[in-house]
Amino acid sequence: MSSAACIFCKIIKGDIPSLKLFESEKVFAFLDIQPLSRGHALVIPKFHGAKLTDIPDEDLVEILPVAKKIAKASGAEDFNILQNNGRIAHQVVDHVHFHMIPKPNEQEGMS
Ligand code: 5GP
Ligand code: ZN
Repeated sequence: MSSAACIFCKIIKGDIPSLKLFESEKVFAFLDIQPLSRGHALVIPKFHGAKLTDIPDEDLVEILPVAKKIAKASGAEDFNILQNNGRIAHQVVDHVHFHMIPKPNEQEGMS
């Protein structure tokens, strides 16, 4: 199920370009266009739904293992996994997405 008006559904279809990191039957992952840190990724179900409560369990259960793979591949020891539902909770794009935000060690590179 996809929504013609949804930008993330368009990204999944390839109608809007993205820097794709992963794709499977149920999951798609790509780099965030306005990254909060280097490697900031979005992991989304291909099933279109605005909120977590709209996504079937069998689709949802495939998301976190992909977020874990991408977190490992980023090389970051520390990272946030965030998922917003609704405007008051700061959701802007109404297609469920999990942010994977690496948190680089700011001490690295400093002597
Ligand atoms: P939210 O606030 O809804 O949790 O986050 C939406 C995220 O989607 C933001 O971090 C924003 O930068 C990202 N985003 C919005 N439009 C696009 C787009 O067209 N391409 C990509 N790659 N990311 C997008
Ligand atoms: Zn969508």
